[in-house]
Amino acid sequence: MSLETMFDVAGKSVLVTGAAYGLGRAYAEIMASQGANVTLLDINGDQLDRTLGELRDSGLRGQVTGAVVDVTDRAALAEAFEAVAERQGGLDVVFANAGVDAGPGFLTPEGRRNPDGQIDALDDAHWDKVIGINLTSIYNTMKLAARHMKAQGRGGSIIATSSIAAFYADGIVGTPYMPAKAGVSHLVKQLAMELGRYQIRVNAICPGPFITNIAGGRMANVEDRQAFIRWSCLGRVAETDEIKPLALYLASQASGYVTGAQMVIDGGLILRPAQEI
Ligand code: NAD
Repeated sequence: MSLETMFDVAGKSVLVTGAAYGLGRAYAEIMASQGANVTLLDINGDQLDRTLGELRDSGLRGQVTGAVVDVTDRAALAEAFEAVAERQGGLDVVFANAGVDAGPGFLTPEGRRNPDGQIDALDDAHWDKVIGINLTSIYNTMKLAARHMKAQGRGGSIIATSSIAAFYADGIVGTPYMPAKAGVSHLVKQLAMELGRYQIRVNAICPGPFITNIAGGRMANVEDRQAFIRWSCLGRVAETDEIKPLALYLASQASGYVTGAQMVIDGGLILRPAQEI
């Protein structure tokens, strides 16, 4: 198989959740630029329209379509999956990506105690919201992906956006974020075992600090940004576009024997002992 054939996704049917901004948008863009037909789902309709307009103006090879969907709404998400499968002729690649930040943790980047982020101050509604979007909605999305891919019987690739927070608790990102991402990474392993026999591959992308909307708020804070730069082996945070080659790899036949993997892309940040923070 030539290198071109390995990475070829032309004509594939792709769905991306949380695609109006950030990493989701980058996943959609790389796939459509390589000729895949991509549907972008997002809760933010205005930004989704802007993103679709910009993507179409950039002369992609594939089609891009969008729908406003809240991934926590199971019925609406299921309906969106049906519509995409109908319009795009099934589903080959699903990015379960939508997520939110979890506010401040119990430490600041300078190691000072942050009273608002401590467990006794944690608002239960905040916990429920972050777990609901960052874990349960990934489950909702992966479940629908599995159902569609099994029924159509031609395999597929399911890619969940986890985080280095799945393995690495820094104290600085709000507490509910860590168990949510650990849950996503374990869900990926469990589903890889379950779905392998249907040639459905399931992998996690585990980013470190990328400049997106989520991280934008955090990194607009000079102390936070400087801390990430200091902790990274490469001495910088990542541009959103740097996620694209990994997304294309996992979506395509180039990763045909890769499943259950936790693909860390973090500039080496995870190598720092947590005590240094
Ligand atoms: P982002 O805020 O730029 O994009 C997230 C998108 O998800 C937004 O367009 C938002 O509108 C959408 N969204 C939020 N809640 C939704 C809902 N209920 N239904 C549908 N859409 C919803 O952030 P991002 O950094 O691109 O985040 C994407 C994923 O990457 C998240 O799962 C995040 O946890 C993960 N991640 C990001 C980083 C980073 O540094 N940026 C690091 C590790 C993991």
